[in-house]
Amino acid sequence: MERNVSLNEISDGKLYDLNDLVKADCNECKGCFACCQGMGNSIMLDPLDIYRLLINLNITFAELIADKIELNIVDGIIMPNLKMNGLSERCSFLNEEGRCGIHAFRPGICRLFPLGRYYENHAFKYFLQVHECKKQNKTKIKVRKWIDTPDLKKNEQFVIDWHYFLQELQNLVKGTQDEKLMKDMNMYILKNFYITPYDAKIDFYLQFNERLGSAKEYVAENL
Ligand code: SF4
Ligand code: SF4
Repeated sequence: MERNVSLNEISDGKLYDLNDLVKADCNECKGCFACCQGMGNSIMLDPLDIYRLLINLNITFAELIADKIELNIVDGIIMPNLKMNGLSERCSFLNEEGRCGIHAFRPGICRLFPLGRYYENHAFKYFLQVHECKKQNKTKIKVRKWIDTPDLKKNEQFVIDWHYFLQELQNLVKGTQDEKLMKDMNMYILKNFYITPYDAKIDFYLQFNERLGSAKEYVAENL
């Protein structure tokens, strides 16, 4: 989800690259799980997040959506997000000890936090959200170490491709009032990127790129 706020209001005013040091390290959160509850539908999941969840939990999309995630329409496009449960709205994966039960394969937004991404000219940089993490006295850490993501080059290209594809789709959707078309398009997006299983023996990014190519053709033909 994009937010139309001034970067200076929410950050320290700097943009960071992978090798930069940033004051984001909350030292394993020790006793805090503030950003794992009460987050509404803001922790959105991209196709890689869903792929990792399905593979590591060894379940189907139908099983995942039964109680762990939910679907919402964001700027006209259907998107999965982590489900918050109960009165205190705890993330479905937050365990009894207040720790993340899926730390090794937590979603991309959880890996980043309290960093965010600032997109410009088909690229992005990282920024530090200064009002979000409750922990005081955070220490400096390299961005690449903080986000702890394998295959970083491929991952960053995937993030860019997915972001700009969604942005293009959202702009196209703004221009149509055709409800059936919108419904069909959202069903296609859901099936193509999330529900149809990926092959765990083949590189995820390769499979995503093929699906992205097909989706672009679908959009060109239908919207
Ligand atoms: S608010 Fe900061 S310290 Fe607390 S759980 Fe989130 S990242 Fe960790
Ligand atoms: S997936 Fe883990 S890190 Fe992310 S919100 Fe849930 S409990 Fe917190």
